[in-house]
Amino acid sequence: MRFWRRDWHGFKMQIPFDNTYAKLPPQMFTAQLPTPVKAPQMIATNAALAALLGIDPAVLSAPNAAQVFAGNHIPDGASPLAQVYAGHQFGNWNPQLGDGRAVLLGEVVGTDGIRRDIQLKGSGPTPYSRRGDGRAWLGPVMREYLVSEAMHALGVPTTRALAAVTTGERVYREQILPGAVITRVAQSHIRVGTFQYFASRGDLAALQALTDHVIARHYPTAKGPADLLDQVIARYAALIANWMGLGFIHGVMNTDNVSIAGETIDYGPCAFMDDFHPDSVFSAIDQYGRYAYANQPGIGAWNMAQFATALIPLMPDRDAAITDFTAAVHRMPAIYEAAWLKVFGAKLGIADPIAEDRALITELLDLMAKDGADFTNTFANLASPQARDQFINRDAFDAWAVRWQQRRSEDAAQIMALANPQIIPRNHLIEAVITAGLDGNDAPFHALLAAVTAPYAPLSEATAPYARAPSKSEQVTQTFCGT
Ligand code: AMP
Ligand code: MG
Repeated sequence: MRFWRRDWHGFKMQIPFDNTYAKLPPQMFTAQLPTPVKAPQMIATNAALAALLGIDPAVLSAPNAAQVFAGNHIPDGASPLAQVYAGHQFGNWNPQLGDGRAVLLGEVVGTDGIRRDIQLKGSGPTPYSRRGDGRAWLGPVMREYLVSEAMHALGVPTTRALAAVTTGERVYREQILPGAVITRVAQSHIRVGTFQYFASRGDLAALQALTDHVIARHYPTAKGPADLLDQVIARYAALIANWMGLGFIHGVMNTDNVSIAGETIDYGPCAFMDDFHPDSVFSAIDQYGRYAYANQPGIGAWNMAQFATALIPLMPDRDAAITDFTAAVHRMPAIYEAAWLKVFGAKLGIADPIAEDRALITELLDLMAKDGADFTNTFANLASPQARDQFINRDAFDAWAVRWQQRRSEDAAQIMALANPQIIPRNHLIEAVITAGLDGNDAPFHALLAAVTAPYAPLSEATAPYARAPSKSEQVTQTFCGT
């Protein structure tokens, strides 16, 4: 034991940190160390992501790796901090939130030239913890790891998972559960709520510094707040169109969970639908369906209106800015519509969809909704004879398919293979993985991770079980925010 300790103390964890957020005005964060935990143990590491970040993947299997990714050992060059932000939660204004259980270790510039945050989530209390314990338990850590890495493999902008560890400590929720920490990687953790925090306090110096930082980091071609707003709206509209194309329900589209970089962030109560119903809601706390599948584009525009509002104080002519920014937000539905048409056009093998194709798409979706067809498998098998098995009203499907045949592109099969995943991280599979994880068996986690990170690969004997839709009794229809 003693030798082992000496060994990891002697090992230098080489992460090429290059931190910029820590140099912003001090009211934007609080310097905060993670709180050490008893007995960290590695669950998973992501060598491909490490390589992208410019970190030698050998670091992930270094003797002290679990200590680093649990927050016990701070690598050289890190400047750990908790970020402050505010946000509208389910429409209600909350003037101060912040990293209540996360610590930003620092930033690295990857081999692709992109700067990214490395953050520990579940790393202990901060000044923004409110009544929370600052911790996470194994279930949500496994869920976020699986779903964020699946999302990346599906081609959708998202935060990612570099590592996950158990802490050897217990976390108290409705039950006693094993604690865990996930190392999250994001283009940044700046949110719409970060802008709202400084705007609502009238802290123009911080608001300006934040805006300059975000433009330099994420939107270098933007010439000021108006351009920034346009570009954020475009990215967010495209992001939501991508979610819709996968039957993904984010579940908690609060403004503090809207990444300013246009990435999917916060995988608490999210879910991929099995059978298609546009009003689907999985989150146990979303009583009124504010964040239901079909509401996501509208809520997206609402969130962009909040972002626009937060930028107004930076504008010299307030009235003119209100007019311009209102117009920018009102352009979002058309931008979204174009992105949606592209996404669903590709799902039907239509290379250059035109507005008239909208009817063809929505008719299929209507048939799917009526008959409760499995969202993923209907699209994945659309060109095969199995597709009509998803429908009760097969005549209606056949009639639709005749019109579809006339419209699809010559290379439809290739387009569709890249637009329609065979495998998504279905809720019942994630739940089974977590149940096994609680029994100390991580093998199902790793098997599911392998399957969901190759979502467009043709099915094999090994992966086919992950593509099967759950039976009614297997379906998991609620996710809990007890994260
Ligand atoms: P979320 O619902 O995950 O977006 O979290 C909303 C806010 O609650 C954020 O400020 C989180 O940091 C904070 N929070 C969530 N869970 C905890 C926890 N267990 N301890 C401290 N803060 C938390
Ligand atoms: Mg959040």
